[in-house]
Amino acid sequence: MTLKIIVMMKQVPDAEEIFIDPVTYTLNRTAARGVINIPDENALEIALQIKDKVGAEVTVISMGPPQAEEAIIECMGRGADRGILITDRAFAAADTYATSLTLAATIDKIGKYDIILAGESTTDSGTGHVGPGVAEFLDIDQVTYAESAEVVDDKIRVKRILEDADEVVEVPFPVLVTVLTGANIPRRATLRRKIDAIKKGIERWDHETLGLPPDWIGIRGSPTIVGAVKVPEEKKRASKKISLEQIPEMIDELFEKGIIKREDGA
Ligand SMILES: Cc1cc2nc3c(=O)[nH]c(=O)nc-3n(C[C@H](O)[C@H](O)[C@H](O)COP(=O)(O)OP(=O)(O)OC[C@H]3O[C@@H](n4cnc5c(N)ncnc54)[C@H](O)[C@@H]3O)c2cc1C
Repeated sequence: MTLKIIVMMKQVPDAEEIFIDPVTYTLNRTAARGVINIPDENALEIALQIKDKVGAEVTVISMGPPQAEEAIIECMGRGADRGILITDRAFAAADTYATSLTLAATIDKIGKYDIILAGESTTDSGTGHVGPGVAEFLDIDQVTYAESAEVVDDKIRVKRILEDADEVVEVPFPVLVTVLTGANIPRRATLRRKIDAIKKGIERWDHETLGLPPDWIGIRGSPTIVGAVKVPEEKKRASKKISLEQIPEMIDELFEKGIIKREDGA
């Protein structure tokens, strides 16, 4: 039976085009072009490598505004078979809890799935909550920090990169895997496939399609409250040029000021 893979993809503003409003200190994303969140490209690439090797149907899902369609078409141009955009004003201002719940409801509605791939975190918000949150809502196993993954019989073998070690784990389906930025080199879309994707079209689902009550989604379904936003104080840095002979004198000065300490703490 054909393997079913779902890739969670978020369209994010191109980081190079975001700037901080000098008056309000908020991120101004309006001028920024929408692009695929970088580790989501790596997650898609893993899905497509599995498809190439053992055959699979790859579905890309994205919750976002109508413009996110462009990013889904790009994913289909790279080889994904189906695209679903979860879009509705009622989803606006969702925190990571409501986002995870909505994506889990989408996956539940898709029905049969073996592997869900997500990025480890996003470049615009970057909490890293959503992948694990979706796995929890679906009550399935999850593997985080993946650098690569392959299908072995009816399991996925994942190489995880941890702070002080690499780890290889094998997990049976269904499973959710979050993928690290730079895990691979994503392939390019072909024009032929993009044209096919445009012809095929993208499904658009709203909260009614998903059967989600408005109280569970968007801002109403988001328990997070942003209490305050603080801009860190700008630290003044100074530098001075010294000669080699002045180094011992400078070290004494740093000890005196308590900037550096001896190993014994004196
Ligand atoms: C305290 C707080 C308040 C917020 N308030 C607002 C607000 O008022 N308005 C607002 O618009 N946003 C708000 N956000 C941002 C919003 O919660 C996030 O953009 C969204 O929940 C996704 O979280 P993330 O970007 O941290 O995803 P992460 O958890 O970093 O993403 C991990 C992976 O999950 C998948 N993923 C994440 N989001 C999506 C998606 N939409 N579709 C498909 N896959 C996805 C991707 O594979 C991604 O790589 C807030 C966030 C926080 C933490």
